[in-house]
Amino acid sequence: MPHQPITVTRKDTIGDALRAIDRSAIGMVALIGDDGQFLRTVTDGDLRRLMIAGQVFDAGLDTLPDIRSVTATETMTLSEMLTLMNQYKIDHLPVVDGSGRLIEVAVRRELDQRILLSTPHLGSEEMEFVLEAFSTNWIAPLGPNVDAFEKAIADLVGVPEACAVVSGTAAIHLGLRLLGVERDDTVFVSDFTFIASVSPIVYQGARPVFIDSEPDSWNMSPVALKRALEGAAAEGALPKAIIIVNLYGQSADMDPLLALADEYGVPVLEDAAESLGATYKGKASGTFGAFGAFSFNGNKIITTSGGGMLVGRDPELIRKARMLASQAREPVPYYQHVEIGYNYRMSNILAGVGRGQLKVLSDRIARRRAINDYYRGALADIQSIEWMPEPEWSFSNRWLSCATVASSDKGASVDDLIKWFADHLIEARHLWKPMHQQPVFTGHRLYQHDPEETPVSSRLFGTGLCFPSGSNMTDADLERIADVTRRFFQR
Ligand SMILES: *Cc1c(COP(=O)(O)O)cnc(C)c1O
Repeated sequence: MPHQPITVTRKDTIGDALRAIDRSAIGMVALIGDDGQFLRTVTDGDLRRLMIAGQVFDAGLDTLPDIRSVTATETMTLSEMLTLMNQYKIDHLPVVDGSGRLIEVAVRRELDQRILLSTPHLGSEEMEFVLEAFSTNWIAPLGPNVDAFEKAIADLVGVPEACAVVSGTAAIHLGLRLLGVERDDTVFVSDFTFIASVSPIVYQGARPVFIDSEPDSWNMSPVALKRALEGAAAEGALPKAIIIVNLYGQSADMDPLLALADEYGVPVLEDAAESLGATYKGKASGTFGAFGAFSFNGNKIITTSGGGMLVGRDPELIRKARMLASQAREPVPYYQHVEIGYNYRMSNILAGVGRGQLKVLSDRIARRRAINDYYRGALADIQSIEWMPEPEWSFSNRWLSCATVASSDKGASVDDLIKWFADHLIEARHLWKPMHQQPVFTGHRLYQHDPEETPVSSRLFGTGLCFPSGSNMTDADLERIADVTRRFFQR
């Protein structure tokens, strides 16, 4: 990324320097002293000022004032260089070695191109639906976009009805409420997840019990679930519900999990916040339990900036969800309430964004899968990286490309790799920190995949990371990430 600048000396003329700047790709040249030391940067602005002050084209550069340009040292990271440029409001930063000789020049417009983990990627039709909401004055948490977005999601995943809400968290909360989860109940939930899978259990005054992952899909372990259900049955306290989470776009191994839930008569809610468009044995993710919840938060595979959707097999219950999400207002001509509800309905403006995003969902999945394939191919020779597995029954939407890294002989860990990426202006993140390790859940129960070993969830957290995965990254971005990764492992 840094450039080898064209250099001039005090013996060159203003004209020479201007011609050199003209040839330079970065709009500047470097003035070098007789002993080869770097003196200062020269831009066409500097030369223009000399000419305004009366110098002619053929005058030597010895009239150029002796200023001391800000420089960077070889050991600075890209991120430190960018901070320095911001501090001094400069766009070029010469990098010099220990003896003051110029090595290269870092250029802001290139450094500025941070690669983020996953950013919104809009299509071409969102704005039309949003404008329609404005032009028809449907600026409310109901309206034609909401109806159409619900129908489109229901059709896509193959359920009779869907209820659009303000967030994935709200969808999970409504699902639990409809499953009758109440104070002092217990709810089993995947241990390896984002806290939004669990918070709604606590909103209901119930207690979460955490179920470890299995190594093949990184999702809920049927072995751990079996032990948890046996234990709960023996104590005469079966959970009110089981929340199965599909992480990073991949379904959990539903057949054995659902068989266990059926055997004990416990309903399942699928947290499919990250897995819209994925399938398990050909069937749409989110449709396996009594309820499924999707999220359209800003970093998800498609987004409405914030939003969620509750889907379910029973259309009656989804209609009940809509009513609860609208302050539990009874269908009578005045405001009447026989129970407490929520203000959870999705805005008609945001549903317009969702309708547009749904049109590009399959493109987004294809791109995210291609990004994952690229990483696997380009970094195949780096033995310490192990990519998230995709079992044969899974079609993942590859929302995020995740991997675990073995500690190197030199002791380099996943923390070092994430820091290395940050130094190169690339955002990578740790995998989810398991719920049983969260301070807020101290003392809560965990059923492990293998009670003799470290929990799978803890091992994944300790060794894993998410690579940048946004569908709007360019091939050049991917090459840069692969290059930076390779250099980390070659150190
Ligand atoms: C994003 C997410 C949620 C919550 O969705 P929001 O729309 O952000 O409320 C729930 N569970 C998981 C696993 C998620 O990744």
